[in-house]
Amino acid sequence: MNIDTTVCSTVCSTVCSTLLLACSAWGRNTAAPDAPVVNVCIEYDSEPRAVQIAQSVATRLLAATDVNLRWQTGFRACPANGVRITLAPHSTSREHPGAYGYASPYEKSRIHIFADRIAAAEPGPAMAQLLGHLLAHEITHILQAIVRHSETGLMRAHWSPEDHVRMRQHLLGWDATDREIIHAGLATR
Ligand SMILES: [Zn+2]
Repeated sequence: MNIDTTVCSTVCSTVCSTLLLACSAWGRNTAAPDAPVVNVCIEYDSEPRAVQIAQSVATRLLAATDVNLRWQTGFRACPANGVRITLAPHSTSREHPGAYGYASPYEKSRIHIFADRIAAAEPGPAMAQLLGHLLAHEITHILQAIVRHSETGLMRAHWSPEDHVRMRQHLLGWDATDREIIHAGLATR
């Protein structure tokens, strides 16, 4: 693993604590009007409905940290400071084994998501919820601009089976440290 690449594993090795993992309600659709705006460009050629729902989930998650996401499809007109997400329909066993996707926080731009692994983990409508949480998780890596994970909430390194159950019905919460680090990272973009 490259030192500047954060890989978010699907391995559920951490015992979930319901006392520490506070689930929020579905949350706000947007942050305050004067909150920072982050352009996010996404390329995909499968699961269009799930991607649309996932974008909404990720937008609500980041709104809780006072960040507005502005989405556009494709990289052609992506702003220079935009976050670029590739949603790959297929993966090979050699590509970051066990991970749903990866980000390069020090590069401050590029995210790669393995759509087939998300669909395998959450077949059916719940796939969109998992994808939305993963988009928010990886975008947060880019915005925080450092390689780190939190002890609780969305930015944990490993989501437990209980986390997956929560994602189907609610938004995962944030660790108390995440918002501050996001806005510190935004100040350097
Ligand atoms: Zn991660």
